[in-house]
Amino acid sequence: MNPLTGPNMPQIKAAVCHAFGAPLTIETVTLAAPEHGEVEVTLKACAICHSDVTYMEGGWGGTLPAVYGHEAAGHVTALGAGVRGIALGDPVVVTLIRSCGTCPSCASGRPVACESDMASGPLTMPDGSPLHQAMHTGGFAERVVVNQSQVVKLSDTIAMEAASLLACGVITGIGAVVNAAQLRAGQDVVVIGTGGVGLNAIQGARIAGARRIVAVDMTPEKLVIAQEFGATDTVLATSDKPWRAAKKAMGRGADAVFVTVGAIPAYDQAPHYLANGGKVIMVGMPHSGAMSTYEPVMLAATGQGMVGSKMGDVVIARDIPWMVDLYEQGRLKLDELISGRWRLDQINEAITDTKSGSAKRNVIVFN
Ligand SMILES: [Zn+2]
Ligand SMILES: [Zn+2]
Repeated sequence: MNPLTGPNMPQIKAAVCHAFGAPLTIETVTLAAPEHGEVEVTLKACAICHSDVTYMEGGWGGTLPAVYGHEAAGHVTALGAGVRGIALGDPVVVTLIRSCGTCPSCASGRPVACESDMASGPLTMPDGSPLHQAMHTGGFAERVVVNQSQVVKLSDTIAMEAASLLACGVITGIGAVVNAAQLRAGQDVVVIGTGGVGLNAIQGARIAGARRIVAVDMTPEKLVIAQEFGATDTVLATSDKPWRAAKKAMGRGADAVFVTVGAIPAYDQAPHYLANGGKVIMVGMPHSGAMSTYEPVMLAATGQGMVGSKMGDVVIARDIPWMVDLYEQGRLKLDELISGRWRLDQINEAITDTKSGSAKRNVIVFN
């Protein structure tokens, strides 16, 4: 292959994972030009999500070497054939939600559960050996090539760092409330875990008009932040039978309990917070093989339920634009979710900070 010059030069810098649990290494790798239906996006920002951390620790297995990173925003710098509605230079958010638009799940409005195998492989090592584009994105890199179904055009005014958060944590938390739980105004909610996703479930519940929003977390400092995002009441998860304090605050059990962490005790305890007829929305993702226990008779006898929610069950072309509008109206907090900004060559420090549990979102910022 002849090396190209200019903006579409195939060599890019990326943070590569060669072994689970090892630090990422910044390397020059090859990114293919976009094929039919694909777009190339030159990134301005990519946030670090706990899913990236779980993958790079080997918690869910997967192919190596790999480039992680899936909460990205930037500008379109190349278009494959057949791309519609997106132009060169457009600011876009890049999500991991790749959807065909025609399978039964897509056709029934659930693109997050797309059944088509749409694997692609734009990344290779310089010697031509395979390099896995993790989560359909590979966002810990200067540029990505993704399917057009994964991107949503943004306004020119939104800052790219804020926009990158819309790719995963924000839509997962808010979508769990408005799409998975279909919360009605006046209902009571409990949010277990107040990290990046939990804070967004909290502000989603506020936007949806929840009556009481009870935040549950292990650390008092995070519960203070939870109140800034809309929690009306807080409960320390380390207290004895924490659901008792939550029920006291609500006057009854919750209509919806959002488990936003992957910790098994959180899943074991979640049904205790429910009112009759309430639902546990399962958002946090434990490591593969981890098991939780609950008492089926209690759920059956009280009409309670548990439902999984992937990526907030969003339809990105429908849901991201209204979230941008609420942000620009001052009704949705995005900037406040960012706890640190880092260069790509500082990514291991940023990941260590994310693992510490104190962080909201660390964002890799590209020049
Ligand atoms: Zn994520
Ligand atoms: Zn599909």
